[in-house]
Amino acid sequence: MTQTGKPETRFSPYAGLPLPQPSWDNYKFWEYCKAHELRLQKCSGCGELRYYPRPACPECHSMEFEWTKVSGKGTVYSYTIAHHPVLPFFADKVPLPVGVIKLDEGEVYMVGRLMDVDPGDVKIGMPVQVMFEDVAEDITLPQWRRADD
Ligand SMILES: [Zn+2]
Repeated sequence: MTQTGKPETRFSPYAGLPLPQPSWDNYKFWEYCKAHELRLQKCSGCGELRYYPRPACPECHSMEFEWTKVSGKGTVYSYTIAHHPVLPFFADKVPLPVGVIKLDEGEVYMVGRLMDVDPGDVKIGMPVQVMFEDVAEDITLPQWRRADD
């Protein structure tokens, strides 16, 4: 963050991958990812899990929550195959499958790359497991791979 509070664009040291900009609302999420733990906010008022991280529950508006470790298991709810690299970092990675993952814990969805999955093999409902990709000293991205079972 700059002194004005406006985030600066940061890039990974390798090949210009743009990095997330941790903020007051989500820095704990990124810290847990760095530790290779997937933790989401669980509302203390109604018990709902939520993602992306934010200060208030969209269901009951409570500002109280805890960071709950989740299984990291889910299924492909939707996906796309990116064919045209927007950034040089992705030039040798296309065609690139990107999934909307529905977590096993309920109506919680995350977007991420489907790693080590041939684009032609992606299927709706395919079981996946989170994996963590260390992309910078302080940033680790949650990505997804095919589940073993
Ligand atoms: Zn709530």
